[in-house]
Amino acid sequence: MKVIEYIHEMKEASQALRAEGNKISFVPTMGYLHQGHLSLLKKGRDVGDLLVMSIFVNPAQFAKGEDFERYPRDFERDKKMCESESVDILFLPNAREIYPDGYQTYVEVEGVTKNLCGTSRPGHFRGVATVVTKLFNIVRPHYAIFGEKDFQQLVTIKRLALDLDMDVDVIGMPIVREADGLAMSSRNSYLGQEERAAAGSIYRAIQRSKEVFDEGERSAGILLNEARKVVEISPLIEPEYVKLVNMGTMEEVDRVENEALLAIAVRIGKTRLIDNIILRKA
Ligand code: AMP
Repeated sequence: MKVIEYIHEMKEASQALRAEGNKISFVPTMGYLHQGHLSLLKKGRDVGDLLVMSIFVNPAQFAKGEDFERYPRDFERDKKMCESESVDILFLPNAREIYPDGYQTYVEVEGVTKNLCGTSRPGHFRGVATVVTKLFNIVRPHYAIFGEKDFQQLVTIKRLALDLDMDVDVIGMPIVREADGLAMSSRNSYLGQEERAAAGSIYRAIQRSKEVFDEGERSAGILLNEARKVVEISPLIEPEYVKLVNMGTMEEVDRVENEALLAIAVRIGKTRLIDNIILRKA
């Protein structure tokens, strides 16, 4: 596995690989890898000839007061995991490399970033769209693989690639979960023992909505209420939003016709966690 820290080197490597006819798969991450990330790597290996992963904790997508400084980092462990997953190139730029002095260009995806995390984290998706645009320009992938864990992010990147005519096939992959259903996340490492136990009810909540949906309920009010009732049992969980949205636009819906996304964000102590589930007619 080659580790590259500089943009010019990454560009040269990618150019050479493309010239040889290789299809490049790319998995951008913020590191502190878990099975969720690894599932994206597996997909990348299946669809492309060469696998590039980036690890970059992107300051532009964190607002002041969020967890940029304390975001978990363990590059040595991540490197080993990438090696055992047959990553060909690990791209590890630092913040100065990506945002040098004088940097002043940002990418804004409009409609789909307005609701959900866009409301609670102003500027977040601008930071995401900007760094992903830069990473796509540097790595020049044929395929880019993202997790449905961050469903709104996935929809945003698909929109970005389409609107800006990027020749990248953006692929979404299902959420990988812990045994109790908690969606894997680097941020789970923030949770204390009691908080971790409480976090299991996020999945139980969205699962409860799905059960009610599968029994035939279609009203957003009732489906959301079922989820809220479950998270509200735990005094450690403070819901930030529980919403039912159109899968393409991320706008709220009153009823589920064929399919919709139930998305949830909560705070447990200082930790903010998100999850979602697709409600779709069988
Ligand atoms: P992050 O390092 O948290 O920015 O995530 C990097 C990529 O991994 C994003 O595309 C995430 O959606 C994806 N990802 C994170 N957690 C999971 C998970 N539990 N299951 C599937 N994909 C995930």
